Amino acid sequence: MRTIMHVDMNAYFASVEQAANPLLRGRPIAVGGGTGGKRSVVAACSYEAKARGIKNAMPAWEALRICPDLVIVAGDMNKYIYTSAQIMAQLRTYTPQVEVFSIDEAFLDLTETAGRCGGPVAIAKRVKQWIREKFRLTCSIGIGPNKLLAKLAGELKKPDGLNELWPPDIPGKIEQIKVSELCGVGRKLEEYLAQMGIRTFGDLHRAPRAKLVKRFGAVWGDHLWQMGQGKDDAPVRPSAYEEAAKSMGHSYTLPGFTTDQAEVKGYLLRLAEQVGRRLRKENCKGNVVHVSLGFGNYQFWGKQRKVEDYLDDGYEIYRVAERLTLDAQRFALRNRPTPNAVRFVGVTVSGLIHDLDQISLLPQKEDNKKVLRAVDAINDRYGEFTVERAAIMATVIEHKSGYVPSRSFRGH
Ligand SMILES: [Mg+2]
Repeated sequence: MRTIMHVDMNAYFASVEQAANPLLRGRPIAVGGGTGGKRSVVAACSYEAKARGIKNAMPAWEALRICPDLVIVAGDMNKYIYTSAQIMAQLRTYTPQVEVFSIDEAFLDLTETAGRCGGPVAIAKRVKQWIREKFRLTCSIGIGPNKLLAKLAGELKKPDGLNELWPPDIPGKIEQIKVSELCGVGRKLEEYLAQMGIRTFGDLHRAPRAKLVKRFGAVWGDHLWQMGQGKDDAPVRPSAYEEAAKSMGHSYTLPGFTTDQAEVKGYLLRLAEQVGRRLRKENCKGNVVHVSLGFGNYQFWGKQRKVEDYLDDGYEIYRVAERLTLDAQRFALRNRPTPNAVRFVGVTVSGLIHDLDQISLLPQKEDNKKVLRAVDAINDRYGEFTVERAAIMATVIEHKSGYVPSRSFRGH
């Protein structure tokens, strides 16, 4: 069995501000976006503010109405990043297997190293002490056999908690936790589950696997069932953050389902062009092309291929992506009740290197590069897709707001 630890800083932004300024300690404070002030929105708030009914994303004027002595502080991202980087570095002294999950959250795989440090609870106590002494900050730490249970364990004891969850505790200790608290269960999925009478972890724990598979398909149904059993095979990915930076992708959720292959290819080309453009802008090239397609019922298909050349040309990326999607056909046909109906398209290029802009040995490649640069220059000046390949013209993609950032799609 693995030993996984989840470290989650409590009311992070607000606590950093309180630690930095003694006058803010013990008082209800909110960190506002922009310059703070009445017009901003509460980006984060202290526990004192939470106790008074302040919530994240509340407009500042409303927060002040509820809690007139609320202190609104302008957020300082540099301070939060700096502090976070030091905390993450400290966590890496216990194991190299640290996954930075967000600015104030990390997973550690202590399977190999916990024994040498006196066990996971001893490590957790030392981590908490170090963070308290160094930054005057508290955190909640959860320990368990996987990421799912470690995170839930920490969530049960907040703030400043230290808690463990192991298989014998399932479902007892977490029986009443709402399914929406589970990682990966968004609002839509929560609704679907509620329609089946599944609202709490206990409900999910008792739901038959076959029923879940029937409703959500093999991949998601099984995933949900595993969750309900407290099982989670996902590894701690030490380089998750760096990896995200080492790939570039665009994805798009269609306004409705489509079974038109030409339309799907149109989206694919357009996304590949966007990826190519971003690669060129960052002076990068990559040699791994990844395609994702989303069908009905949360069924996702994905495949990647390493190619010989490092690419930054959207059309070349598209050609690789398009060949990869041929394999999606068989997968898609199994999808009931809407075989082949695509709802989501994503293209990502990884294996990135910085293009040193060496003159290519092939003259026609060099010409192509010049053309791309000219196109980029025009688009930079007059806006995205002023000049584009004729084939994309037929595909209408809605404005930027329709895009799903590719990172949020990672892991499924
Ligand atoms: Mg937190």
